[in-house]
Amino acid sequence: MNDQKIYIIGAGLAGLVAAIELEKAGFAPIILESTGEIGGRVKTDEIDGFLMDHGFQVLLTAYPEVKHYLDLSALHLKTFEPGAVIFGEKDSYIISDPLRNPLKVVGMAFSRVGTFLDKVKMFSLTQELKKKPVEEIFSSPSVPTLQYLKSYGFSNQIIDNFFRPFFRGIFLEKHLNTSSRMFEFVFKMFSLGHAAVPEKGMGEIPKMLRNQLSNTQIYFNSPVKKVEGKTIFMKNGDELEADRIIICTQPDRIMEQLQGQFPAAKPVITLYFSLQKSFMARPMLGLVPGESHLINNMVFMDDVSPAYSKNDRSILTVTVLESDLNEKDLVQAVQGELEHLSGIKAEYFKFHKSYYITHALPTVVDLKASIPVTECKIMDHVYLGGDYMLNGSINAAMTSGRLAAEAVMLSYTPTH
Ligand SMILES: Cc1cc2nc3c(=O)[nH]c(=O)nc-3n(C[C@H](O)[C@H](O)[C@H](O)COP(=O)(O)OP(=O)(O)OC[C@H]3O[C@@H](n4cnc5c(N)ncnc54)[C@H](O)[C@@H]3O)c2cc1C
Repeated sequence: MNDQKIYIIGAGLAGLVAAIELEKAGFAPIILESTGEIGGRVKTDEIDGFLMDHGFQVLLTAYPEVKHYLDLSALHLKTFEPGAVIFGEKDSYIISDPLRNPLKVVGMAFSRVGTFLDKVKMFSLTQELKKKPVEEIFSSPSVPTLQYLKSYGFSNQIIDNFFRPFFRGIFLEKHLNTSSRMFEFVFKMFSLGHAAVPEKGMGEIPKMLRNQLSNTQIYFNSPVKKVEGKTIFMKNGDELEADRIIICTQPDRIMEQLQGQFPAAKPVITLYFSLQKSFMARPMLGLVPGESHLINNMVFMDDVSPAYSKNDRSILTVTVLESDLNEKDLVQAVQGELEHLSGIKAEYFKFHKSYYITHALPTVVDLKASIPVTECKIMDHVYLGGDYMLNGSINAAMTSGRLAAEAVMLSYTPTH
């Protein structure tokens, strides 16, 4: 198997998992990565003494695929306190653990976000989804999440105060048009486990995957221009002949015949500010309901993991879903909002870095948890992996990489 030339395009989570599986089966794959680093959309920079993830994101510890590839204790996971700090028009308040123990949320606190009936419905939804298998979730009827919540009987109050800002920050879209399958899946993951980050940043996840590789070569700064049959045309003019190719990035950019087949991905902007001291002082997500703010959600990352700040200031990550403003104006507008929400003067929020991410989450029309291995094969010798095959998540990226590798292995079985 070692003599087979198996190329994987992309060193994101899907590509790295595909390589792990191929190595286990005795292959020695080669990864072609356009950038100088592993991780794809999961990376962490160290800037000005702070750790900054490329876009705020979290690992959900209940993700089923994660346990095959990550040693969660070795990642020294730091968990978020379940629930959220809600920044209302007049003041801020805490809603603890509504997705896991809604009945335990103190009545007074819950009444700020929803009605008593909402609380009961939240409880029954939690119980239902805990029991509903992931496969069943992804084969249930798909309706927009907003419609699902309304049909379930949730009031506008809880939809606007809690569900909208919470799930907008996860789906990275304002209108909760994302399929109810994804809503149920994410809700289930939150009710079974924790949201967490590795102590030293999300970039530790791909590093842990890479450390499981011993027989894989990674060629960095090696962008692929196109794939035609078994030939890979590199941007630098080289041509590589492959026995098998796994494409672990959206393939429309490198396969002419797939152009126009994928809807536009969802963008997001993450801004990092430092402040003398966190004004939340707890490892919790801050949510800003309503339509009038640029900020959707924010977290002081060193409240979650102190290693995110190596100096004496706190580091705040702010998620903005949409804005046409240039960086300077956006920073100023967000600083103004932070002053309004926290009562701390705008100029005390020191801006450090922005990430304008144009391709944050794929827009997947028919969301799935998994697909039959045979569906990963797109043409002779060419296979597909990547989150866009299933749903936009770390879990799906890993599953897709595994399935693509299994499809390649299947092609080597004598009966095939
Ligand atoms: C801001 C943000 C927030 C998110 N939040 C969460 C979250 O909270 N929880 C969660 O589970 N998921 C979240 N996600 C989604 C998750 O990060 C992705 O689903 C996952 O990382 C996708 O992995 P992938 O391997 O499929 O693709 P990618 O990470 O995109 O990997 C593709 C790789 O291919 C390389 N490549 C591209 N084109 C070429 C080419 N022509 N030649 C060679 N190499 C190429 C790229 O450089 C990249 O390294 C978030 C994503 C973002 C950006």
